[in-house]
Amino acid sequence: MLVWNPIDSFSGNSTDPALTAQRPCPVCGGDNPLSVMEMRDFQFFTDSAVSPKRVELCEVQCDDCAALYLNPAYTPYGFQTLFAEAGCSYGATAGRPREQLDWLSERGLLHPGKCLLDVGCYDGRFLSLLPATVRKVGVDIDKPAIERGRLHYGDQGIELIHGDFDSFKLDRQPDAITMFHVLEHLPDPLATLRNLRKLATSLTALVVEVPILENGFTNDINGFFSVQHMTHFSRRSLANVLARAGWSIEERLEQPDYNGCRVLCRPAPETDSVKGATEDHATLAAYLRHHRDVVEDVQRQLTSLAGAEWILLWGGGLHTELLYQLTDLFRAPGRRFLIVDSDPLKQGKSWRGIAIYAPEILRVEEWGETPLVISSYGGQNAIHDAALQAGFKSESIIRLYRKFRVY
Ligand SMILES: [Zn+2]
Repeated sequence: MLVWNPIDSFSGNSTDPALTAQRPCPVCGGDNPLSVMEMRDFQFFTDSAVSPKRVELCEVQCDDCAALYLNPAYTPYGFQTLFAEAGCSYGATAGRPREQLDWLSERGLLHPGKCLLDVGCYDGRFLSLLPATVRKVGVDIDKPAIERGRLHYGDQGIELIHGDFDSFKLDRQPDAITMFHVLEHLPDPLATLRNLRKLATSLTALVVEVPILENGFTNDINGFFSVQHMTHFSRRSLANVLARAGWSIEERLEQPDYNGCRVLCRPAPETDSVKGATEDHATLAAYLRHHRDVVEDVQRQLTSLAGAEWILLWGGGLHTELLYQLTDLFRAPGRRFLIVDSDPLKQGKSWRGIAIYAPEILRVEEWGETPLVISSYGGQNAIHDAALQAGFKSESIIRLYRKFRVY
């Protein structure tokens, strides 16, 4: 028996002040944040009467150096609680290992005998792809991932350390350090970069890749201000935080097909002054205009639902919470919803009171006429195909994005 519920029909969700904490600007250390955008009562994944999963999300811009960051930021307890259902935490999903390896190799960083340190190594899967002649060390704060990695890769000579990025130590100085899509997730990127500087020789190469504002003009409602990121770098704020930690940029590459700005840095004297970033103000204004247009576009795709009383959603993740926060999909009185999601972690649970089922429950003879909203950006095409295959008519399937780009 499938249960169709109205939105917010579960009353047990809660928040906890310990989930987040105020912090100074992660780039310049200043304390003059100006609000850029806010989402109230943002819910992280499924309903829970036990675990607090709601927070006020506030993105700010530093009035001193123009850096963009989440403030308050998640505490370690907050990160663990809010992202428990998110799957693996850092760049392990970024998945461009072949290109990354070739790039490192072309710069001589994978020569026999070199020591490479991967910061935010998750379970060591990236290290496991490096040549056998490279000495491989990885560090991560995710203890279960490190333990799994030790079991899995321990006999391949990969040394995996469970430690805090800001204070872990090594018994050997690395020739190269990699951080692919990690820095944007950290509460104190400056402290991490300073610790890496301490571990480095005068010749160590540091390779950092992060998404940047300048290339963040996507047509996804999730946009550049991903709730998973604690600092939203620009070219300038990335250079500023590196300079303050004693790293100077020698080479820069901006990926053409996804938002990754890669820099190769070498040790340099620390500087305490950050360069002004007036261009960041203009870029941010343009970005916010763009994002409003993206939301308006999605809202327009939803207008065909006017009058619909029963709505199926395919996708019960953060994208659905963003639809709740940014559009009027859930505001029509009397509407009832049902969610299907292929993630077994979500099935049998609910989101804001709406039950989540496995897609296999969809019986087209019963639901084929019910509008089906695809609530996913990256999965849009796959879900569309699966819905057609389940027998849904293409006119009852609502796609929210006319254009689609893989990141
Ligand atoms: Zn600042």
